[in-house]
Amino acid sequence: MQQTITTYEYSTITQQVNHLASVERSVNDPQIRAVILATTLEQLTSLLPSADPLTETFLAGLQVEHLSRARATQLLETLIPMIMPFPQLTPKQLTKLFRKVKKLKQPAWPELKRYEMTYLGWNDGGNQKKYLVAPYHDHLIGIQGEFSPQTVKGVCAICQTIGNVALFLATTKSSGLGTYTKKGNYICRDSGQCNRQLTDPQALTDFLTVVQPKRN
Ligand SMILES: [Zn+2]
Repeated sequence: MQQTITTYEYSTITQQVNHLASVERSVNDPQIRAVILATTLEQLTSLLPSADPLTETFLAGLQVEHLSRARATQLLETLIPMIMPFPQLTPKQLTKLFRKVKKLKQPAWPELKRYEMTYLGWNDGGNQKKYLVAPYHDHLIGIQGEFSPQTVKGVCAICQTIGNVALFLATTKSSGLGTYTKKGNYICRDSGQCNRQLTDPQALTDFLTVVQPKRN
């Protein structure tokens, strides 16, 4: 099985399929439904590996009367083998990415859906900290910072979606002087939700450009 679908493409596919399922439930006009189905199929085809039996079964499965939310979810799961997941990192690899952190709280790997993750993010609620590991110029970087316990409604700097966000103050080394500056951004409290909403990796890259630790 060739893994060719990126995690953020999978987020796009999921959003499109869920939209289609909601149209099937709420729109009565069969002509409008047909137009939306055709548009959706065209967009999905451009994201899926062509001439693959999984793709064909998936697309055929969508072309039914009254696609239910449950059936949509089942169909989406059939694509998982084709997704390039976020790598599972060992405690040693994570420690290397966060050298300055003593007693790094580890992410709850068994609960994480790596096929949905463009980046890894987890909270250390007790210490009001958030940790992020994300691809940046072809390698993984670690970002840590203070994470406010106060949740507000707002636009997330990473997924660009309105939701439950909190202020993240990245701790970054500003220059060769050894001083640290703090840069604040509002980002999703729940990084799992954030990843499911992340369809364009450019905003993540822009965010990392601002908050990444500078090398000496
Ligand atoms: Zn987000």
